[in-house]
Amino acid sequence: MNESKIGIPFEIKELAPNTVYTTWKDYYNLNAGAIILNNYIVIIDSLSYPRQAMDFRKRIEEKYELPIKYLFLTHMHGDHVFGMSAFKDLEVIGSKALVENMKGKLADSWEKEAFDDWKKEQPELADFIEEIEITIPQKEFENEYLLEDGDLYIEFVNSGGHSSCSTYAYFPKDKTLFIGDEIGAGYWIFMSDPTGNPDKWIESFEEILKLDVEKIIPGHGPIVSKEYVKEQLEFMKELKKTVLKAISEGKKPEEVEVPDYPYEPAIDWQIPTALEFLFNHYSK
Ligand SMILES: [Zn+2]
Repeated sequence: MNESKIGIPFEIKELAPNTVYTTWKDYYNLNAGAIILNNYIVIIDSLSYPRQAMDFRKRIEEKYELPIKYLFLTHMHGDHVFGMSAFKDLEVIGSKALVENMKGKLADSWEKEAFDDWKKEQPELADFIEEIEITIPQKEFENEYLLEDGDLYIEFVNSGGHSSCSTYAYFPKDKTLFIGDEIGAGYWIFMSDPTGNPDKWIESFEEILKLDVEKIIPGHGPIVSKEYVKEQLEFMKELKKTVLKAISEGKKPEEVEVPDYPYEPAIDWQIPTALEFLFNHYSK
């Protein structure tokens, strides 16, 4: 990866009158976005490097003559939060679980040495990594939070599937929903974080299907509709059944015959890790 790849070729796309997003194609089609309210703008996720995020921020500020007031983070994974220092002056909104998870990461895996090792492994990225600076969200909420600005509002719901802090942002005015990594569209499901919960994932998808939503912005991949949620939900239920049966028969994760799914893994460890994750969860 070189500077031209991190330096931002991406464009800002208008998905609906008050909902925009951008995609960094070089990292599994990573998405970030923004919701334009009456008096201010809310940024959704920060991309992976502060320099990218700063570029994204400038373009949003040039396009809309409104201040950016908040950064909302869908969950704690580095590709979604490492750009956050570009929004240092803003209040960061996140679930209570996000605050806990980020504090944990700062204590055990986001230490200076870890970033130094990363710089050594990818010296061509050292300047970008150097700018990464993590801050804990100041505006913390328990399970759900309604952010209102006149007649417009965003509903944040901690759904907790892909990770315990996974939270979606639903914007009824545009019928749009930023779902974070609960969906990685076009890829096999990203199911590996030990804090995640397959049952909460299934429950939250059932809730999302009841919402008046037309366009869903996934953490990675192209924009989808409720059809995709339905398809992934059916598959997750099938996979759960298969794993429960395998556990009851005393099988090991590697002996499970995974049901068919139309999307291939983006990385080869995805399916084995997901099986480990499901076995851990359902063997308890
Ligand atoms: Zn993630």
